[in-house]
Amino acid sequence: MRPLPPVEKVAGGVFSVPVVVPDNPIGWTQVYVLESSAGPYLVDTGWNAPSAWDGLLAGLVECGTSVEEVQGVLITHHHPDHLGLAGRVRDASGCWVGMHAADTALVERHRELLLDDPEVMHAETQRLLEEADAGRCEIDEIVGAARGLALPLPPLPDRHVGSETLRLGDRVVRTMHTPGHTPGHLCLYLEDVDLLLTGDHLLSTISSHVGVYGFEDASADPLGDYLSSLRLLQDHEPTEILPAHRGRFHGVRDRVEELVAHHEERLAELKNALADGPLTPWQLCHRMTWNRSWDEIPILMRRAALAEVLAHVRRLEREGLVTVLPGMPTQVRLA
Ligand SMILES: [Zn+2]
Ligand SMILES: [Zn+2]
Repeated sequence: MRPLPPVEKVAGGVFSVPVVVPDNPIGWTQVYVLESSAGPYLVDTGWNAPSAWDGLLAGLVECGTSVEEVQGVLITHHHPDHLGLAGRVRDASGCWVGMHAADTALVERHRELLLDDPEVMHAETQRLLEEADAGRCEIDEIVGAARGLALPLPPLPDRHVGSETLRLGDRVVRTMHTPGHTPGHLCLYLEDVDLLLTGDHLLSTISSHVGVYGFEDASADPLGDYLSSLRLLQDHEPTEILPAHRGRFHGVRDRVEELVAHHEERLAELKNALADGPLTPWQLCHRMTWNRSWDEIPILMRRAALAEVLAHVRRLEREGLVTVLPGMPTQVRLA
């Protein structure tokens, strides 16, 4: 595990507080504290675990404030390493929690499934894997591992935030809707200090996960959304980029170009794999290059890998370059 970095003052009235994500290679989420004339605001909160909560409380004290002082929380996206502790921060302070409506819709659905019957969720995963042509043993292993995760009920926000200008005390925050990593992802630009907070949309060394999970409607094109959202950032060349994971960095345009090129390579690799004839999504997973051999990819990450392959297939389908033949399993072929 990487050691947790210190709490840092990034600029006037802006602090970063690393909050541990227990037992996860991502290590920590950077929570940002924005001071204002009305009191502090948070961007993201961290994973809902006792060690993370203790770390967040201690970090806020190090910034010269406390959780009780918090006025509002802006959530970049609904993933549990960002939204997880928002309910506890709200309970401790009475603050509001803001998130994009498209991510709220996912949280509402997730809460319903957790409260009514989590088995419906696992049955959906199973169907998606069968449709993709995963082997029986792998399906059982993936669904079994998903059952064992037991995620706590995610909190709902109090208000919705889109692309707008927010006044938080004397601080002006421009929020930008940047769908792709999730349908309601938000980036934030702090005008007075010229800083861009990019959540999980733009990271320094990691390429953001973009996937199709089967609950989206058939017209959803997360990779298309993601690439358009990357282009949205190109008008900005802030003093510094503040991502939600790993270190701060410089150079929006260069990083955007790298990521666009990365996805173009993946799309080309996928088309090449289909040159000899149709393949099922699971066969495509085996053909694509990953950072390790397929057999070494941990079982739950194979599902994420499939989601990524499906997002690339969907993009090529939208461009009219491949056809997906429905069936059990589905087959992908060049158009
Ligand atoms: Zn995320
Ligand atoms: Zn994250």
